[in-house]
Amino acid sequence: MQVSENKVVSIHYTLTNDAGEVIDTSVGRAPLSYLHGAGNLIPGLEKALEGKACGDHIDVSLAPEEAYGQRDEALIQVVPKSAFEGIEEIEPGMQFQAQTPAGRQILTVVEVYEDEVVIDGNHPLAGETLHFSVEITEVREATEEELAHGHAH
Ligand code: ZN
Repeated sequence: MQVSENKVVSIHYTLTNDAGEVIDTSVGRAPLSYLHGAGNLIPGLEKALEGKACGDHIDVSLAPEEAYGQRDEALIQVVPKSAFEGIEEIEPGMQFQAQTPAGRQILTVVEVYEDEVVIDGNHPLAGETLHFSVEITEVREATEEELAHGHAH
């Protein structure tokens, strides 16, 4: 069975950056299962898997445009510390999720001053070329429930 729309695909993957550092991997864990064609993977990776079959191995490099986009300096903002009410200690590197009109966004704390905090709304992998090594371990039809939900179960 080939990878195409409305199939549930299981993959083992290793993601490395340009420097060859492993950013994420499924090795040692359960494979990642996703519903193909539902926008659950980054577009470039989904495109590379299209038409492949169980047992296939692919290596694909994705420019930022096909992955998490270029960095946008306008997404770096200074906000008052009071915006973090209820959080005892704010430190650089901390990440928060925010719901925005454009969808879920990851905010990373860059710098902390006495009254203000610098936050970066860029995706942590924005501006990076991503190298995926992927092995397809299963391809099956999605159930009606999975199609209705828009994700694999
Ligand atoms: Zn569901």
